[in-house]
Amino acid sequence: MNGPGSSNQASENYLWFALEDVCLVRFAVLLQHACMGSILEVRDLRVAYGSRGGDTHQALDGISFCLESGEVLGILGESGSGKSTLATSILGLFRGNAVVASGAVLFEGRDLLQANPGQQVRQVLAAHGMNGGVALNQKTREVLETVFTEKTERIARSYPHQLSGGQRQRVLIAQAIACGPCLVIADEPTASLDPTTQMEMLGVFRALRRSLGLAMIFITHNPALLAGFSDRVLVLYAGRVVELGLTEEVLSWPKHPYTRSLFQSIPVLPGEPRDASQKKLPSIPGDSRPSSLPEAGCPFEPRCSERMDTCKSQEPGLVNLSETHVVSCFRYEKS
Ligand code: SF4
Repeated sequence: MNGPGSSNQASENYLWFALEDVCLVRFAVLLQHACMGSILEVRDLRVAYGSRGGDTHQALDGISFCLESGEVLGILGESGSGKSTLATSILGLFRGNAVVASGAVLFEGRDLLQANPGQQVRQVLAAHGMNGGVALNQKTREVLETVFTEKTERIARSYPHQLSGGQRQRVLIAQAIACGPCLVIADEPTASLDPTTQMEMLGVFRALRRSLGLAMIFITHNPALLAGFSDRVLVLYAGRVVELGLTEEVLSWPKHPYTRSLFQSIPVLPGEPRDASQKKLPSIPGDSRPSSLPEAGCPFEPRCSERMDTCKSQEPGLVNLSETHVVSCFRYEKS
């Protein structure tokens, strides 16, 4: 379900989904491992969008992972990395200009991509006890309208504006868990909140996880929110998995140049040691818009301070650094 907002809250890009009967989510992204006992398995998910000019933009390019019961997976990446497309695509909710969508999203053995969005929402509503064709159709339409941003203004008028951001987020959380889901996908749930309220919301999530055993996919652009909260972290860049590992591994010893750059560009939290010589936060030069991506080679190459000759012509695969940590970078390939 999408969150409430006022007309000037287009930036409140949060999106909630709750899937019934999912118990733990565990991202076993990568690897060709069989997803034994997983609740959710995403296999080679590819989504492309067409532009008015006829170009095609690959928003997700071969995402694969498993999610096990009770796991919280954090997904990191800057705007345009594919985070939100991944969240919606897991439910088969593609924008109208999606021109290519392939792969599989297996939830309890069913491929969610094989059902259209309307069917999927209807299935969830029916599973929660709603019946009657007219009521189901109307509720389905309402849910879809709240998911897609095209109706933002109309949606905004439908919610009580007198609530604070934190209060509205709590309402959203209540809505998401009202039907007893096992898995919640939260897309930037704290993006529009001040730091104090962000911490408050994380406390709510932690409590819910403890009390309900919720599995969760938590999408954010802020690594600091994942520390002490998620079990594993997946880093996306240009629709590809560039790093995946246990939260401590990725946050404490980031390996991919993009992950490291991302971490260097976030503000130091109060109480953390600060480099006095650092007057301003470093930023990652360039951007990841489709028009800025190279036609060949590593997608991060134009922005990478560690690029090598081979990075211009070849795209790296995933390298296992340990049983739990993988990275997509030539720097770690053994020759
Ligand atoms: S493969 Fe090359 S360009 Fe890509 S992240 Fe690694 S070093 Fe940088």
